[in-house]
Amino acid sequence: MRIVMKFGGTSVGSAERIAQAAQLAVHAAAQGHEVAVVTSAMSKVTNVLIDAARQAATGKWDPEVRRELERRHLEVAATVAGGDATRHAAVVRQLTDRLEGFEKLCFGLSMVRDLTPRLMDAISGIGETLAAPLLSAAIAAAGRASESVDATQVIITTDQFGGAEPLMDDTRERAQVHLLPLVQAGGIPVLTGFIGATTDGITTTLGRGGSDYSASILGAALDADEVWIWTDVDGVMSANPSEVPDARTLAEISYSEASELAYYGAKVLHYKTILPAFRQRIPVRILNSFNPTHPGTRVSVDGDPAARGVKAVTSIRQVTLVTISGTGMQGIPGIVAKAFEVVAVQQADVLMISQASSENNICFAITQASAPAVLRALRATLEPELTRGHIEDIAGQPVAIVAAVGDRMRGTPGVASGVFGALSTAGINVIAISQGSSERNISLVVTESEAPGAVLAIHRAFRLGQSSQA
Ligand code: ADP
Ligand code: ASP
Ligand code: MG
Repeated sequence: MRIVMKFGGTSVGSAERIAQAAQLAVHAAAQGHEVAVVTSAMSKVTNVLIDAARQAATGKWDPEVRRELERRHLEVAATVAGGDATRHAAVVRQLTDRLEGFEKLCFGLSMVRDLTPRLMDAISGIGETLAAPLLSAAIAAAGRASESVDATQVIITTDQFGGAEPLMDDTRERAQVHLLPLVQAGGIPVLTGFIGATTDGITTTLGRGGSDYSASILGAALDADEVWIWTDVDGVMSANPSEVPDARTLAEISYSEASELAYYGAKVLHYKTILPAFRQRIPVRILNSFNPTHPGTRVSVDGDPAARGVKAVTSIRQVTLVTISGTGMQGIPGIVAKAFEVVAVQQADVLMISQASSENNICFAITQASAPAVLRALRATLEPELTRGHIEDIAGQPVAIVAAVGDRMRGTPGVASGVFGALSTAGINVIAISQGSSERNISLVVTESEAPGAVLAIHRAFRLGQSSQA
C-alpha cells in the first residue's frame, strides 16, 4: 500500500517526538508499504515567525528571535542525526541557510515596513523548511534512505498568498518526478507541509493548519492508497476534547461529515483537506502519534452506516455576524446580490447565511479578521440604499457559530428540537440559525461567551460522550 503520512506540530515538537515520528514512518515502510511523509513546523514555530514578521513591519527586528529558533532546531539536530557527523553537518548547513534567509527577510522588512501577503508567506513558511531536514535525518538514522524536499518544488499553486490553491496537474507531474522514485525504491521523502510555490517559483502558503491539506494534495498527486494524519488526539472526536472532557473518538466518518466538521471548527483537520482525497476516494485516517496503537478515525465514502442523528458538535470562535436590516428592503431587488458581491471582492469566507422570512433582515457570518474591511465596503456600496432609507442599519456583532453535524441527521426526527431544547434548558439565547439543505448540519449563532456552554449542552443532550458507549 502507498501511504502519505503527515505529522503535525506537536508530533514533531521535540527531538523525542521527531524520533517517534521517524519510527512510525519507518515501521510502516518495514511492513512493506511505500511511504511519503509531510511535516508541519515544530510546534509554535509558525506563530513565532508570524509574530516576528509583524514586529519587523513596525520597524523592530530582534535578532534574538533567530537565535532562539536556531538554538531549538540545532539542539534537535544534534540528537536526531544519530551520531553521524556527515548527516549532522548537512542538517546544520540547511538550518543555518534557512535561518539566515529568515533574518534577511525580517531585517529588510524592518526597513521597508511593508508586510505584503507574499512576504508573509515567505516568512511564515520557513518553519516547515526547518522541520523537514530534521525529520528526514531522523528517518535516515532509523535506517531508511530519506531526503527532505521543499514543497516549493512540488506543490504548485495559485498566487492567492495566505490561502493558495493547488494546481493539480502541475503538482502531480512534480510529485512523480521529485518524490516517486525514492518512494518506489523503499526510501521515505519528507516534504514540507503548509507551503507551495506559484508556477514562477514564488513561495505561497495554503493557510493556517494547511499541512493537512498538503498531505491530501500529495496523496492525490501520488495516487496514494491512504493518507494518515498523525496528530495529538485519538482521531476526530465528538467535540473538541480540550473543551468537552468526555468527547469520544468517532471510528468512522464520511468525507462529507469530515468536511463539515473541519469547516465548522474541528481544528484537527484543515477544512480543505478532504477534497483532494475525496475526488480520488482515498481513505484518510486521523491517528495519535502519542498513542499510535489507537485505531483513530477512518474517513471514507460511507462513514458509519449504523450511526444516526448528530455525531459531533463543533464551534468556530472569533466570528462577526453582519446584519443588514431595514423594513424598506422588502421587494427591493438586488440588495442581497450587492452585499455578497462586496464580500466576494473582499475575499472574505462566508461561514453561514441566514435570512429572516420577512426579508427585513439579512445576516451572514464572516471571520472577525475580515469584518472591518467588509463592513466598510458594505457601507460604501450600499450608501444609496442607506440614504434612501431602504436599509436602516449595517452592523457587525462578535459571535460564535456552534454546529451539530451528522450525515444521518436527515430523516432523524427531533434533531432540531433536541438542539434547541438543549440550548433553552441551558438558558442560552440563539441569535441566528441556519440549516444546510443537505441536513447534515444545523448551525447556530450564539455570543462568544456562551459558545462553550452551547457545545456542552448539545453534546450532553445527544449523549455523544464516552458514557453513552457503556
Ligand atoms: P496538528 O498540530 O497535529 O495539526 P492541531 O492542533 O492542528 O494538530 O489539531 C489537533 C487539535 O484539534 C486537538 O489537539 C484538539 O484540541 C483540536 N480539536 C478541535 N476539535 C476537535 C475534534 N472534534 N476532534 C479532535 N480534535 C479536535
Ligand atoms: N505550521 C502551519 C501552521 O501552524 C501549518 C500546520 O501546522 O498545519 O499553521
Ligand atoms: Mg493542524
